[in-house]
Amino acid sequence: MSTDHRHAANHLARLLQSEAPDAVADRLRPRADPLPPGIPGGARISTDAVDRRWQLLPSAQASRPLLLDPQTDEQKDCYRHNIENFIGTVKVPVGLAGPLRVNGLFARGDYYVPLATTEAALVASYSRGAQLLSEAGGCTSVLLNEGISRAPGFAFHDIQECGRFVLWATSQLDAFRRRAESTTRHGRLNDLRITLEGNHVYLVFEYTTGDASGQNMVTLATQAVCDYILENSPVKPRYHFVEANLSGDKKACAQSFLLVRGKKVCAEAFLPAELVKKRLHATPEMMLDYWTMSAMGGVLSGTLGVQGHFANGLSSLYLACGQDVACVSESAVGVTRFEITAANELYATVTLPNVMVGTVGGGSGLPSQKACLDILGLAGSGRAAALAEIAAALCLAGELSIIGALSSGDFSRAHRLLARGKSSPTRTVAVDDSAPDVAAPTTRESPDHD
Ligand code: NAP
Repeated sequence: MSTDHRHAANHLARLLQSEAPDAVADRLRPRADPLPPGIPGGARISTDAVDRRWQLLPSAQASRPLLLDPQTDEQKDCYRHNIENFIGTVKVPVGLAGPLRVNGLFARGDYYVPLATTEAALVASYSRGAQLLSEAGGCTSVLLNEGISRAPGFAFHDIQECGRFVLWATSQLDAFRRRAESTTRHGRLNDLRITLEGNHVYLVFEYTTGDASGQNMVTLATQAVCDYILENSPVKPRYHFVEANLSGDKKACAQSFLLVRGKKVCAEAFLPAELVKKRLHATPEMMLDYWTMSAMGGVLSGTLGVQGHFANGLSSLYLACGQDVACVSESAVGVTRFEITAANELYATVTLPNVMVGTVGGGSGLPSQKACLDILGLAGSGRAAALAEIAAALCLAGELSIIGALSSGDFSRAHRLLARGKSSPTRTVAVDDSAPDVAAPTTRESPDHD
């Protein structure tokens, strides 16, 4: 977080160019003038409550029909467990990537994957990678492990008290399990890990959560365990919290790389050199050179794991399918790796230890989000493992496409064309709707995209 001294001095000089230091300081002080009215209605989504919220925004009435369009207004009640202070919905464009052939333990088929994004070139890039994988026979994608934790923290007087508490807690696993599982039909408490730091004890409860991604489920179950602990522990904590920030919820941390949060999935494919050339305009050697240098770049920049852009595919998939998009922070930690085989094929693999997806619960049942899960055939019970395998396959598709674009030199041209609508000044590029390699403009003449 440090800043070069020249940059700091320039920044301050610019700030003080038009205003005196006292005036700037004054602007930054807390203000005591009356606050505008509070937002009425809280979690209520009645017509009246929504109206009253819009009345707070007299200068933004032009935004109202765009956010509260007739369909949103009509179905607004369905959002009542997913949002507070509701005023409407934001429309995010959805595109299809695919076909993506997945040969998994749970996902088996050719999928058209709905991706929601406002980022040009993203869908085209994933679609290109998906087609490459599919033409090679598909990618193998395998769910390897599952688990999600909640980590309550307990504060004691000293380490001795911590020891007595841990001695008791480690004898209570069956009782903890009974309490936790009394709150859910699908959640299972599988394990307990203990971290002691000074006079603090963190109990890390590990669950599986059926087809729900499970963040709420494990919170409610762990709260019940905490209540049991307070009622029964022979050593009373001075204070405790149901989550003491050791679970890795919604953050990339060393633990995200070392443990499992959600679902650990591994995907791989063997890609013939001709296919790599045809689809990505690169050779396996160019791909491997890029991967090697970018892996080192990742190490030098201190990333957790080594990967190119898992976050692009995951965030657009999560957004489309009603997943908690904030979990991309931990889900996008993982590894991409390439090899060249004796047959000159490109071996490409991704491993993601924290795929946080559910096909029930959260936002997965909302109308347009469920519609996206329906496109995949994955709405409802019994489908979460397949969704996780598709997520990993999608990430592999995205890694292949971006590494292809970067190693062949197509990366900037594709973005100039798809995001800015402009051809390269030095090279004629073409994209048409039927072209399978839309993310990789070629030297074809007669540009015909619109
Ligand atoms: P949820 O919607 O709170 O719970 C899932 C519900 O689906 C439960 O009522 C569960 O019943 C039911 N269910 C029906 N069939 C199921 C099946 N086959 N497998 C699993 N459950 C099934 O969802 P959640 O996944 O626990 O929580 C996800 C949401 O929590 C996300 O929207 C996320 O944003 C939010 N979140 C919460 C916290 C937090 O600490 N509270 C933190 C981060 C995110 P049973 O309960 O009877 O099993």
